[in-house]
Amino acid sequence: MAKEKCGNCNGTGMADCPMEYGGRCPDNCPACGGKQKVKCQDCKGTGKVDA
Ligand SMILES: [Zn+2]
Ligand SMILES: [Zn+2]
Repeated sequence: MAKEKCGNCNGTGMADCPMEYGGRCPDNCPACGGKQKVKCQDCKGTGKVDA
């Protein structure tokens, strides 16, 4: 099965934090822990998805 670059994270495996704080997330953000990025759910952090 062919793999394609994930469009959600643009192949990085990391997507912007989905929490909407209207700016940067606080250090205690439950989703990203303040890193502003979370593992991409579409590709499970691999950066690739099934074509
Ligand atoms: Zn992805
Ligand atoms: Zn966050």
